Amino acid sequence: MSNDARALPDTSPAVVVGAGPAGLAVAAELGRVGIHAVVLESKGEVGSSWANHYDRLHLHTARWLSGLPGCPIPRSNGRWVARDDFRAYLREYVERQNLDVRLGTPVTSVDRLAEGLWRIGCGVGTIVTPLVIIATGYNNTPALPDWPGRESFEGRLLHSSEYRNPAALDASSVLVIGPGNSGAEIAADLAGAGRRVWLAVRTPPNIVRRQVLGVPSQLLAISMSPFPPSMGDRVGRVVQRLSVGDLTRYGLPPSPLGVASRVLQDDVQPLLDVGLIDAVRSGAVKVVAAVESFEGNTVSLVDGEVLRPEAVVVATGYRRGLEPLVGHLGVLAPGGRPTINADQQAPGLDGLYFLGYSNPLTGNLRQLGIDARLIARRVGKRDTVAPRVVRATVPRAAGTA
Ligand SMILES: Cc1cc2nc3c(=O)[nH]c(=O)nc-3n(C[C@H](O)[C@H](O)[C@H](O)COP(=O)(O)OP(=O)(O)OC[C@H]3O[C@@H](n4cnc5c(N)ncnc54)[C@H](O)[C@@H]3O)c2cc1C
Repeated sequence: MSNDARALPDTSPAVVVGAGPAGLAVAAELGRVGIHAVVLESKGEVGSSWANHYDRLHLHTARWLSGLPGCPIPRSNGRWVARDDFRAYLREYVERQNLDVRLGTPVTSVDRLAEGLWRIGCGVGTIVTPLVIIATGYNNTPALPDWPGRESFEGRLLHSSEYRNPAALDASSVLVIGPGNSGAEIAADLAGAGRRVWLAVRTPPNIVRRQVLGVPSQLLAISMSPFPPSMGDRVGRVVQRLSVGDLTRYGLPPSPLGVASRVLQDDVQPLLDVGLIDAVRSGAVKVVAAVESFEGNTVSLVDGEVLRPEAVVVATGYRRGLEPLVGHLGVLAPGGRPTINADQQAPGLDGLYFLGYSNPLTGNLRQLGIDARLIARRVGKRDTVAPRVVRATVPRAAGTA
């Protein structure tokens, strides 16, 4: 693997932006159809987002449904792969698939050239290419709601992406905001370490066990995916009732929408439980209403309750953060998500692809492997000759190292 940003080529048959699981998967699949891709990664390691996830994180999806194309995750990593094992797997993937990754190379611009090519700007130079795949991550930019008085909060306030473990947070009472998978696991982590924990919930989540009777819930989601969402909702309700039960008296009534509909309508995944249910039942985590505002050392909730936590962990998710890169191309929906995904093409923007922005119920890691293959198949069929032609004829970009 190269981390020498100064050795960038002037041209390349394909450029992949981002060396997370999506970028690595598509570079490997392109290689299999004979297209060499340069993968540009802003940080100093592949899969950099995983280096920043909290210490106790294990994949919520099953090992054999989370590996990248052409290289399963080793069985020795267990059913639920630990964060650091997954990071090691990604590093190994680069070696085994012989990928051309340039670390420390943030892409700053993606521009269409008159010749029907793309110019990729990355600080130290530019690369001209007929094919660019944007894979900068669904969870690219931490999203922190702008609650009134947030800046005045006297305790420690951090996004879930900055949380590591209870000792590092060093607070005896913590308010976790948001009952998504990160918020729920962080709340359980803190409660397990004896901290006083509140979990602020605006809309009750769909809670599902990570596995039921030894079967990963992800498998159920995959088996339900050909059916209409209403069917997925009904099956989900039955599974929740039988495996989780009614948590209304602990402040977690059933979600207003079923599992499948909530993903489709609100883009909100079900909570795959890894400890929250027990923590809520035992009183170690107290569920409270949504946050209204901050002032000094207090946090006011929408039901009038006032809390005085030493720290607040904001687990309200991420934004795609694609505007600076591709906002000028007209391919972003109002929420900032690309209007095309996988092998879809936008009119007039031939050669531009997005990977990893669909976040399906069936597991993102699994899906991005499938979608990477679709992209490679499409461009492999159409363009296997074009990159070689283009390589010989593209204009040399100014300022290239
Ligand atoms: C806490 C957490 C747990 C998750 N657990 C699971 C799970 O168990 N199973 C599952 O299927 N999914 C899971 N996901 C969802 C998703 O699969 C992962 O986030 C996965 O890493 C997505 O891969 P990606 O390559 O699309 O994005 P990322 O992993 O975010 O990788 C994007 C890469 O692009 C780089 N980059 C960004 N901008 C630029 C730029 N301008 N120039 C160059 N490089 C850039 C970043 O540094 C990063 O390395 C989880 C997500 C989170 C947040």
